[in-house]
Amino acid sequence: MNYEQYNRQSFDNLIQIQEKFKETFEIDSYANWFYDGETELLRLYNNDDDEIYFKYVSVGTHSLKSETWMWSWFNKHSIEKSKNQLLVVKEFGIENNYEKLHNGTFSSDEYDGWELSSICLNFVNGIGVYKVNTDNLDIFMLITNLVDKSSPEIKKLKQKTVDCGSHGYSRPAFVCQHLNLESPKGFEEAFETYLGMELDEEDDFQAWCSECEKVRTEYNGWNEESEKFAGIKLICENCYFELKDFNQTNLLG
Ligand SMILES: [Zn+2]
Ligand SMILES: [Zn+2]
Repeated sequence: MNYEQYNRQSFDNLIQIQEKFKETFEIDSYANWFYDGETELLRLYNNDDDEIYFKYVSVGTHSLKSETWMWSWFNKHSIEKSKNQLLVVKEFGIENNYEKLHNGTFSSDEYDGWELSSICLNFVNGIGVYKVNTDNLDIFMLITNLVDKSSPEIKKLKQKTVDCGSHGYSRPAFVCQHLNLESPKGFEEAFETYLGMELDEEDDFQAWCSECEKVRTEYNGWNEESEKFAGIKLICENCYFELKDFNQTNLLG
């Protein structure tokens, strides 16, 4: 069988699985997503009472900027341990000389993610595929099972996230006390960020205003004095990117 035939067969199979997946769990009824790479849990939700949790295997990402696919097993920023489960797909690709299965990254279109995910379903038991859309990336996840809301796993997840009044459970982020959505004050970051990006375990979203940056520079970095001026507070990831949009954009205009 050549790759095209194999791919088509797998994709036809996915269509059937997806139909059942969407129907059983009313996947399209949820407006929001949140995922945690460390626990490999995906939360779909409308609010705290209307939510559903799944365990996932990280397949890979399609970059909208560079129009390339990257397998999770190739991506050093992908922290999901489950990604190694898909190395069998890579092996299979090598044996059959299916390049897309063993090359870590290559130029791709929006369909590749679905096709490659469908092939992964031949190797790992899954109940569906979910695509998370961030600003720059389509992230493909192979959904393996439903997770009970009251399970210890979910309780643990809730403990390490911020329960935001506007956004529900989100990853934590840290900003100075001056940043708000009323007047733009600049937006200096510890590192370049985008919504939904993978974070290394030791990294947090951190931002401060232009005034704080002046003070920080005066003191040659963060110390007791500059930190006191900043008055860093904890917010949610979504609030962080609202602040980023507002404070960064409007300062220039
Ligand atoms: Zn500040
Ligand atoms: Zn929020």
